[in-house]
Amino acid sequence: MKILVINCGSSSLKYQLIDMENEKNLASGLVERIGIEGSVLTQKVEGREKYIVKTPMQDHKDAIKIVLNVLVDKENGVIADMSEISAVGHRVVHGGEKYSKSVLIDDEVMAALEEVAKLAPLHNPPNIIGINACRELMPNTPMSVVFDTAFHQTLPEEAYLYALPYELYTNYGIRKYGFHGTSHKYVSGVAAEMMHKDIKDLKIITCHLGNGASITAVDGGKSVDTSMGFTPLAGIVMGTRCGDIDPAIIPFVMKEMNLSIEEVNNLMNKKSGVLGVSGVSSDFRDIEDAAWKEGNKRAQLALDIFNYRVRQTVGSYVAAMDGVDCIVFTAGLGENSPETREAVCSKLSYLGIKLDLEKNKSRGKALEISTPESKVKVFVVPTNEELMIARDTMNLIK
Ligand code: ADP
Repeated sequence: MKILVINCGSSSLKYQLIDMENEKNLASGLVERIGIEGSVLTQKVEGREKYIVKTPMQDHKDAIKIVLNVLVDKENGVIADMSEISAVGHRVVHGGEKYSKSVLIDDEVMAALEEVAKLAPLHNPPNIIGINACRELMPNTPMSVVFDTAFHQTLPEEAYLYALPYELYTNYGIRKYGFHGTSHKYVSGVAAEMMHKDIKDLKIITCHLGNGASITAVDGGKSVDTSMGFTPLAGIVMGTRCGDIDPAIIPFVMKEMNLSIEEVNNLMNKKSGVLGVSGVSSDFRDIEDAAWKEGNKRAQLALDIFNYRVRQTVGSYVAAMDGVDCIVFTAGLGENSPETREAVCSKLSYLGIKLDLEKNKSRGKALEISTPESKVKVFVVPTNEELMIARDTMNLIK
């Protein structure tokens, strides 16, 4: 059985075709600049050169048409016919409180997605456009939606409610939802397997450290707290997002700098984080270079703030779960930056954590990086949200 996984952004689309017999990635690709000049598709297939298609794409329907054409292309494709695609799994950012699991798409689900869209105005609308386009082009193929928020629907009330007037929750749905759920669920599951233990018996802290970053406390396989909140702006410091700040800063800067709602939103989402502090870049590789090769003090400060906030959050989740058995690092930085992992873990020695500094040098593969004596195990686990989406989709259509 082959499953196509689709993740639609406002002007981009990522896809992966997975053979579920062996969970092998047959092809993955990225379509960029949808609806603007210079639309381009880049497909990667193991053992082959990148295949690039430059052709105008007015909208997501055009983009999906091209993706399907490329997948069945005689020379560059990986399947003979579209009918080989048994199902499509769509990533959707926000499922609100309605969805704690992935679901098969029907008209009722589509109506519910429209309803939830106001909670994620930047993310859900492009997801919905992509699903509609796909349904039009593949009307007889079953499709599912897998939500970034679903895994966190097990948070207890004390963790998800903000201390605002209660009516803000009941009237507007203002609460912590949490994001990156598919990734946190996947890497916590892999870590439990690596420990040869039932996840029900483990307390795990998963650190998804990429451009967007979040940390989750997983107790007995369930998310019990997570650092992102009502939106993916909350929590630890990120590439361009500020994470948690004193909320009173917002009206203050709006007044002092004469900013509109859009401008202050833009400032917190696009100009803050390690980019804002360092003034160098939002990319951690650039910041590490500036700090370590050029001695740029603000770049070092950005890294220090980032590491401090990660450590602080890990500490608070030990408190939330009354203990921890293992810590997992994943996503761009978590998988590839030994320095970040060392900076975070070296000051968690009170937990009895000991890193194996040699093993910690490894990049991008699943590995235990703590010493055998370490009381708390530390793992690097490359995330695989696409595989998780494909697995959920397969289970739903079975
Ligand atoms: P997202 O999916 O949120 O866009 P990723 O998980 O791809 O983000 O992570 C991107 C981040 O990971 C970038 O800031 C990048 O600099 C960082 N990263 C990737 N490889 C390395 C590396 N070798 N060393 C340090 N940082 C890295």
